[in-house]
Amino acid sequence: MIMRYKPFPVILSSPSGGGKTTIKKEIISKSDLFDFSITCTTRPKRKEEIDGKDYYFVSDKDFERMIKNDELIEWAYVHNHRYGTPKSSVMKIVDNGKFPIMTIDVVGAMNVKKIMPNSVLIFVIPPDFNMLVERLKNRGDLISDINIRMNTALKEMDFAEKFDYLVLNEKLEDTVNSVINIVLSETQRVFRNQNILKDFKFQIKKTIESGGVK
Ligand code: 5GP
Repeated sequence: MIMRYKPFPVILSSPSGGGKTTIKKEIISKSDLFDFSITCTTRPKRKEEIDGKDYYFVSDKDFERMIKNDELIEWAYVHNHRYGTPKSSVMKIVDNGKFPIMTIDVVGAMNVKKIMPNSVLIFVIPPDFNMLVERLKNRGDLISDINIRMNTALKEMDFAEKFDYLVLNEKLEDTVNSVINIVLSETQRVFRNQNILKDFKFQIKKTIESGGVK
């Protein structure tokens, strides 16, 4: 059988408190079609994080070197630190026949789409505005920080219009199923399956030319 489609990057973006990291972790534990694409950051490691699992924590110098060597698909400043997606992380997963799933900011998402137009961009928001505020408050963030994030959220909403899908994250299980269903539907897009059509056409022509079906 012909390989049906090449796996494509799946990008989840959301305002802070949108729940994208939890969704990503749940998708990977639920379906072996997906894998983490680990990104790099210059921000300090948090206590609970593991280098090489949550992020590659790198120095400013290393980050500079990666940019210079063209090792990153995209990179951006987010909350005063640099974050970037190494090409090697994404390609390793695609070569293994899996979908790289990334949680990156909206600017990064736009840049990945430019370089890898087969990517699918999913914007995730809580079902209503009050829930977004509640989630930020429940994380224990300072009110002043929450208000900084509100300003960022407004800018992010402008980018959201350029995404392929909008998913309302109300119940984790439903959200995870929505994202998996989006990806499975995307695999059936005609443009991702041109090789099947081409092969069918070739076989039909060959059969007609050799005198038809016997
Ligand atoms: P945090 O520091 O809370 O882990 O992440 C801060 C923000 O950086 C989040 O919005 C996250 O999605 C984004 N981010 C993480 N990795 C990357 C990356 O490789 N590229 C870009 N552009 N943003 C990223």
